[in-house]
Amino acid sequence: MSNVYSPLLADLIQALQCLPGVGQKSAQRMAFHLLDRDREAARRLARSLESAANQIGHCEQCRMLTEETVCRFCRSTHRDSSKICVLETPADLLAIENSGAYDGRYFVLMGHLSPIDGIGPTELGLDLLDARLAEGGINEVVVATSVTVEGDATAHLIAALAAKHGVKATRIAYGVPVGGELEFIDSGTLSRALLGRRQIETSPEEAGL
Ligand SMILES: [Zn+2]
Repeated sequence: MSNVYSPLLADLIQALQCLPGVGQKSAQRMAFHLLDRDREAARRLARSLESAANQIGHCEQCRMLTEETVCRFCRSTHRDSSKICVLETPADLLAIENSGAYDGRYFVLMGHLSPIDGIGPTELGLDLLDARLAEGGINEVVVATSVTVEGDATAHLIAALAAKHGVKATRIAYGVPVGGELEFIDSGTLSRALLGRRQIETSPEEAGL
């Protein structure tokens, strides 16, 4: 394909294909749109990507994406610090937040247990969660991992970690479809899922903690 495009165009089309679900055809369409129709938007996109890639990191308390050391969810003085909701992705956090049914703190795993991909407790930041639970003041861990084999395994490990600190762990379940990702579930269903959360029965010994 590279010989039909000029070098810069080939680079751009190649670069756009880093996006999920974007193949060569879509990338070509995006490139032509930006170059033919909206050069200003193309420049804005370039500046925005540059700033975001250089400046956005992870909140040192909850691991949410933010350009600040501590994100606004952790800084807020209006939230219930006795609850902490553990989720897999920043998109899941926003879905729970937008449901309006939760006002506690958050912890973002940035994935789920997946031994095949080398993702274990360390990669999920569980030592940081362990430290937060050790500080005290939390009396419920609301687990909102996905309803998949990996999400279930992750939920059990989190529950065992909570049990180690004598903290109750609950899991949202009601209405969340099997294999469902939180970000694609509507707010009403998510609100009911939060209200219908159930306690996870486990012990630290069960998870070898
Ligand atoms: Zn935070």
